Amino acid sequence: MKVIHDAKELQQTALALRAQGKTIALVPTMGNLHAGHASLMDAARSRADVLIVSVFVNPTQFGPNEDYEKYPRTLDADCEVCRAHGVDILFSPAPATIYAPTFSTYVTESACSQGLCGRSRPTHFRGVCTIVNILFNLALPHVAVFGQKDAQQVAVLKRMVQDLHIPVEMAVAPIVRESDGLALSSRNQYLSPEERAVAPEIRAALREISEKIAAGTESAETLAEFFMNKLGANPLFEPEYIEIVDNATMLPLKKITRGNTLIAVAVRMTQSRTRLIDNIVA
Ligand code: AMP
Repeated sequence: MKVIHDAKELQQTALALRAQGKTIALVPTMGNLHAGHASLMDAARSRADVLIVSVFVNPTQFGPNEDYEKYPRTLDADCEVCRAHGVDILFSPAPATIYAPTFSTYVTESACSQGLCGRSRPTHFRGVCTIVNILFNLALPHVAVFGQKDAQQVAVLKRMVQDLHIPVEMAVAPIVRESDGLALSSRNQYLSPEERAVAPEIRAALREISEKIAAGTESAETLAEFFMNKLGANPLFEPEYIEIVDNATMLPLKKITRGNTLIAVAVRMTQSRTRLIDNIVA
């Protein structure tokens, strides 16, 4: 496995690979790799000749009071995960290699990014669209793989790729969970022991919602109320939102239409202030 830190070197390498007729798959990450990231690598591995994983804690997708500084950076361990999953190139740039001091160009998607996480993180998806564009321009992938864990990110990036005619196939891999149901996330390590013990209740409440839908509940309002009451009853949870939206447009639905309804939640844990997200597709 080759480790590249320099942006131009990655682009030259990708150009040379393309000139040889090789196909390239890209998995963008912020590192601190876990089994969720590894599942994206496995999904990407079979889709192209060359697998590139980027590890970059992207400053432009963090808000002023978010965890950019404390976000876990574990490059040595990340290298091991990448090696074990057949990665050919690990791209780990310093922020200054990506963002020049004069940097002033951002990519803004202005529909799918407005609700859900976009409400409390108004500059987040602009940062995500911008960095993914930059990574596409450096790694020149034929296919890129993203996780359903960040369902709104998938919708925003798919829209960006469609709107800007970017020649990259977008693939999505399912959410990987702990055995108790908690969705894997680099932020789970911020949880206090008490918070960690109750965190699977988020997923459990989503499952109950699935069951209610299967039993015939169609009203989004009823389901949202159920979730807010259920988690709101425990002082360790501060539910930020539950949104029941069209999976492609992220626009709110009043009535569940099975097959394309995304039920997405964000919950703030009150001891550590960690914000957890999860979702199901009904
Ligand atoms: P991150 O490093 O958190 O920016 O995530 C990088 C990629 O991994 C994104 O496409 C995420 O959606 C995906 N990812 C993160 N956690 C999981 C998970 N538990 N299951 C599947 N994919 C995940």
